[in-house]
Order: sequence, then structure tokens, then C-alpha cells
Amino acid sequence: MPELPEVETTLRGLSPHLSGQRIKQVTIRNPHLRWPIPDNLPGILRTQTIHSLQRRAKYLLLQCDSGTLILHLGMSGSLRVLPANTPAEKHDHFDLLLHNGTVMRLRDPRRFGAVLWHPEQTGKQRDIALHPLLANLGPEPLLDDFNAAYLYRATRKRSASIKQVIMDSHVVVGVGNIYASESLFHAGIRPQLAANKLSLPRCARLVQTIRDTLSASIAQGGSTLRDFTDSDGKPGYFQQSYMVYGRTGEPCRICGTAIKQIVQGQRSTFYCPSCQK
Ligand SMILES: [Zn+2]
Repeated sequence: MPELPEVETTLRGLSPHLSGQRIKQVTIRNPHLRWPIPDNLPGILRTQTIHSLQRRAKYLLLQCDSGTLILHLGMSGSLRVLPANTPAEKHDHFDLLLHNGTVMRLRDPRRFGAVLWHPEQTGKQRDIALHPLLANLGPEPLLDDFNAAYLYRATRKRSASIKQVIMDSHVVVGVGNIYASESLFHAGIRPQLAANKLSLPRCARLVQTIRDTLSASIAQGGSTLRDFTDSDGKPGYFQQSYMVYGRTGEPCRICGTAIKQIVQGQRSTFYCPSCQK
């Protein structure tokens, strides 16, 4: 599944190809994604210019003349920029044809992705942050408003496990299952610990390891992800070696203790019972 680092890498890969480009035509081959693609989108987007690309949580936001195109990759989506005459394949559901002779194409075999339009309302310029999908999201993990004091405050009334709390997008966005396990390992924090038991210094440590884990993955993505203008259709989700994730029973890379696997909130958690307290 594309996680925050893949979405960030997609953003960085696509930006130079899309920013400043004018849309010539929109093709919807299959509107049945997580939510239906609005059928008036082709009429709305034709002749609009894409001014900039941004990311909020795992949403890609293409700022156009009269509003924002919201894209989400769901479980299996990928985006790429191709020559306009490239034949579409089975799971290529959505195209933005550009005036420069290229097409931005969404492929999404499992169709949990999304293509939505948020019109800019008069007098409320750039009000995309108020969109219902975005309005209640917590801070971005790589920005300054996610910090030790914030995490300490946000966890005081939470008796749920710290792993489940850092995966809650109201607390902080983009910390998926893999990154939660890995960050907690690097911070030496046991995933079952009640969130409100975390001291301020341990909150500081965890904020840092979340940032480091995501940043390392983004850095790796930049170097390993396929070219976004390559027509071979495989999404380049990162293959990485993890400290604990997926390593049940294998020796901890630090202390040699067997890695344990438990289930929290219906998701697998991996941790070292010696290194994590
Ligand atoms: Zn260990």
C-alpha cells in the first residue's frame, strides 16, 4: 500500500511534469473508485492550468484555476506521466491529457483510490484545508507543529496503546503500520504502553524517530523509485529492510532477542521485548 513516503515521492516525481501545465482533456474510463469520480469533472477541468502540487497526509492536491483536484492512491494506485498516445491498460481509470502532449494517468487495480474536485469558493481563497476529508487531520509528521510538547499534550487523555495513538490520523497523519512499528523500535518504546504513560522526553524521542523513519524512506524512494515517466506499469513501492516489521521470531538486529508479533487494533505489531520498554 502506498504510504506517506511513496506519496511524497510521487509528489516530487510528478511536480516538474505537471506544474504550470494546461489541461486539454479529461478521460474517465471507470468512475467507480472509493467514491465515484464526479461526472462533470471533464467539463470543469478542461482549459484549467495546474498551478502547483501539494501533499496533505496521503492526499495529493493539484491546485487549478478554480479549485483543487484531490487524488488519493488508496491501496494500489499509482500515477505516471506518459506520452499522450500511450495505450491505456486494464486498470488505467483516469487520465489528465495536457496541452504539452503528455498525459497523467492513474492506475488503480483495487480501486480504493479517489479523484475528487474541491471548488474554490469566492472570498475563501485556497480553502482546501476545510474540505471534509482534510479538516480534521492532525499535523504533518515532518513539520514543526508535530513536536514533543504537542505529542505529550495529545496523549494525556489517551489510555489506548501508543502504537494505536500514533496511527490515529487525528493525532498525526501518515504514520502507517510499518512506520509505527519501526519508529517505536528506534525509540525503545514498547508498542503496548498506554499513550498517557509516555513521559515528555520519550515523546521527544518518538517524534524524532517517526521523522527519521519517514525521512529515510522518502530519501530511499527518491533513489529507488522508477522514473515517473516510465511506461512500465508497476508501482514502485519501496522494498526496505526493517528492524522489526515482518521479522517475527528472527533475532533483533541490536540484541539478538527473538522479535515478537502481536495484534493491536486488528493490525500486526512487531517489537523486540528486550530493547523496547
Ligand atoms: Zn532487541
